[in-house]
Amino acid sequence: MAKAKARPRKPVKKGKKKAAKKKAAKTSKRAALGKTAKTAKRARAAKSAKGAKRAGVPKSARPSKHTRAAEPKAAAPAAATPPPSAAASYKPLKAPKHPQPGLEAASPFEMRVNLAKDLPETDVQSALDSGDMGFLHSFTTGSTVDGPGVRVVAWTTGCQWRCRYCHNPDTWTMRNGYPVSVANATAELSKYSQGLKVMSGGLTISGGEPLMQHRFVVKLFDAAKKMGVHTTIETNGFLGERLSDDDLATIDLVMLGVKAWGGELHKELTGRDNGPTLEFGRRLAKLKRKIWVRFVLVPNLTDDLDDIGNIAEYAASLGNVERVEVLPFHQMGRFKWKQLGIPYHLEKTEPPSSALVDKAIGIFRGAGLEAH
Ligand code: SF4
Repeated sequence: MAKAKARPRKPVKKGKKKAAKKKAAKTSKRAALGKTAKTAKRARAAKSAKGAKRAGVPKSARPSKHTRAAEPKAAAPAAATPPPSAAASYKPLKAPKHPQPGLEAASPFEMRVNLAKDLPETDVQSALDSGDMGFLHSFTTGSTVDGPGVRVVAWTTGCQWRCRYCHNPDTWTMRNGYPVSVANATAELSKYSQGLKVMSGGLTISGGEPLMQHRFVVKLFDAAKKMGVHTTIETNGFLGERLSDDDLATIDLVMLGVKAWGGELHKELTGRDNGPTLEFGRRLAKLKRKIWVRFVLVPNLTDDLDDIGNIAEYAASLGNVERVEVLPFHQMGRFKWKQLGIPYHLEKTEPPSSALVDKAIGIFRGAGLEAH
């Protein structure tokens, strides 16, 4: 066969050659870090954390400017299983060794659905029973709003509540998350463990409702504690009784969402009773486990000052509440309700005024609590 004649190459100008070389070096550096151009940009933004670079903290574990006004939900150090297309052939407890690169969220408001939709129900159940596998919506690094210090946050899927202001309704369904083994999640967390310690941070597991997968949560916290990493759970507390006292010993801090005091209001707001949540808080108090109370302030819904006063009185009576966080309602999750086709009742609700936020904070402070 006749060979195609090679075309003579055009001489490359010196300036152009230099620029191309620089671009190639930049690209290969990104590839080595497993970063896309977008994530590299985020990591650069994180350099503002003074001392982090000097301390040898991984870029992705440095503080981000990223903040969330209302109740957050989830992220996790993790390694994930096959993408949805491969989920049909997924074998329980044998997730791939490498993390799923797409599991790290650019923002906690990323919409994710059906990541494990083809997983057989029996596999989901066996993962929940053993706790060797969990389901994660995503994970984020460098959070400064999900517990003390700088944190890696694992956002789990599955929640039995239906809060009207939930900004992550895509986390309600367990199957919207990736299946991730404890072993892979632990391996991923270990990459950040030193940095997290230097930054006085740790691992936070949020959701969704993490206690929907309490065995996985306890195993991951146990692994984190063995690395000396601080652990925090953000929970609505409804399934708190699933945790034994020994399980609770693996959790350094419970961020307890108290949505409303009045039973009727709570039910209207979340679809569930608040009795188990309040009881869980009392049990934590008896065990002297630390609590941060989180309260989402929504105009015309949770802004009754007497109701807030009752929550403040309850929180103060526990004696183990270190801090109260008043989270102003926002509309950043509205698009998810629309895309999921779920009726959204707060379409016209505005975020609370700063005067109202200050008033709510004042009520908690008036009860002798540290509130922000
Ligand atoms: S407890 Fe409420 S706010 Fe939290 S994930 Fe469930 S529905 Fe959303």
